[in-house]
Amino acid sequence: MSNTWYEKTAHEIRDAVRAGDVSAAEVTESCLDRIAAVDGQLKAFIDVWNDAARAQAAQVDAKIKNGEDPGPLAGVPIGLKDVLCTKQGTTTCCSQILKGYRSPFDATAVERLADAGAVFVGKLNMDEFAMGSSTENSSLQTTKNPWNLECVPGGSSGGSAAAVAGHECAITLGSDTGGSIRQPAACCGCVGLKPTYGRVSRFGLVAFASSLDQIGPFTKDVEDCALVLNAICGRDLRDSTSADLPVPDFTQALKGDVSGMKLGMPKEYFTDALGAEMREKIDTAIKVLEGQGAEIVEVSLPHTDYAVATYYIICTAEASANLARFDGVRYGYRAPGVTNVDELYRKTKTEGYGPEVRRRIMLGTYVLSSGYYDAYYLKAQKVRSLIQRDFNEAFERCDAIVTPTAPTPAFKIGEKSSDPLEMYLSDIYTISVNLAGLPGMSLPCGLTASGLPAGLQIIAKPFDEETLLRVAYTYEQNRGFELAMPAALRAQ
Ligand code: GLN
Repeated sequence: MSNTWYEKTAHEIRDAVRAGDVSAAEVTESCLDRIAAVDGQLKAFIDVWNDAARAQAAQVDAKIKNGEDPGPLAGVPIGLKDVLCTKQGTTTCCSQILKGYRSPFDATAVERLADAGAVFVGKLNMDEFAMGSSTENSSLQTTKNPWNLECVPGGSSGGSAAAVAGHECAITLGSDTGGSIRQPAACCGCVGLKPTYGRVSRFGLVAFASSLDQIGPFTKDVEDCALVLNAICGRDLRDSTSADLPVPDFTQALKGDVSGMKLGMPKEYFTDALGAEMREKIDTAIKVLEGQGAEIVEVSLPHTDYAVATYYIICTAEASANLARFDGVRYGYRAPGVTNVDELYRKTKTEGYGPEVRRRIMLGTYVLSSGYYDAYYLKAQKVRSLIQRDFNEAFERCDAIVTPTAPTPAFKIGEKSSDPLEMYLSDIYTISVNLAGLPGMSLPCGLTASGLPAGLQIIAKPFDEETLLRVAYTYEQNRGFELAMPAALRAQ
């Protein structure tokens, strides 16, 4: 390996590129070499954009040479989940139904990162249409966990998490509908942040469940999360749900101080469902924050038990409507040899979608059907309001909430793939945050005895990503351990 720029954080790369200590071209080559060396094992990337990345890096270097500002993410190598529309390459959501689909535009978040000087290195593996918690539902390949190649990386943004943890690029983008940034970040030992609903434009994010979806970053440290938020947040006229609120400089929140803050521990999250080893990791992490002056208070989120069921009604209902557009006429795959429109729809969808996506469309169509709408969909919307109210009440007693991100560390490939309900429970601690539209973050909080990362989740009030980052940064600066390079990849 020619150099080790691939190991660095985005802010280290950005500083060095801007100072002229290294060229964007050299950093890019380092990452492309690293991808070539380890991705055969990890399988995080579904497409590596060697030439396009080199061209983007050359543009950054040219700006520096001409004395122009190359941007706050100058030369930083970034990978993109395949749910984000990009003019470069294809956008398939790792589904056969979108095989070969080329987007005529870039997602707003992608466009904004490019404007900030980023270098895109390729597209990342995911569960088909972001439905899953292990990335095993991808129709293309199974991504491995960098800490143990026999384990899943979590999901649905498993490629995004594995690429950062495996040091294939400094930053990746993912999407989070019920936990798909935070849970894989926890499984792979990286930082993952789901912004408040409306904070980041969803324009160009292929919709799964539009009232829950948000785009967010995977990074190696908290500071890098702030840098990405600075670039991607803010109003976008092409997404009417994007909030028209000022975007602060999130790096100002990185103070490393939580004295006088109240952190809530929801008692419903600390039950037997949480394994003893995970519990110990979370308790230790919370003690670190307490040691930095935070006051820990017990809070209650009484409707927690209903969150998973509520989510699987709402997200399937929305998915069944959103996925209706993949009909063999407008996008991607078209089944051959059909004689009428009905047969075209039927055959295209049967052949184009994998089993989990078909299951969700059927569930969603059922809960929206006239005889069952009130019993399921309407009821779920009411419970969603109760879950939101629980959080509002909890936030009267604390500034942020701390919980585990997932009940267990990464599990073995194949262990849960035949039992969808068991798989759905991977998200018991993350789903409520989407139902309530709140910002949430996962941070590595140590390794289990078997060498797998554990994740601490922090949840804040709507549009209070600054508190999230402040608590996260304080924890990170005082946690008392370094995450080494995953053993499986060290010898590369
Ligand atoms: N694992 C959850 C699901 O399967 C969440 C997915 C996501 O956030 N995209 O729906």
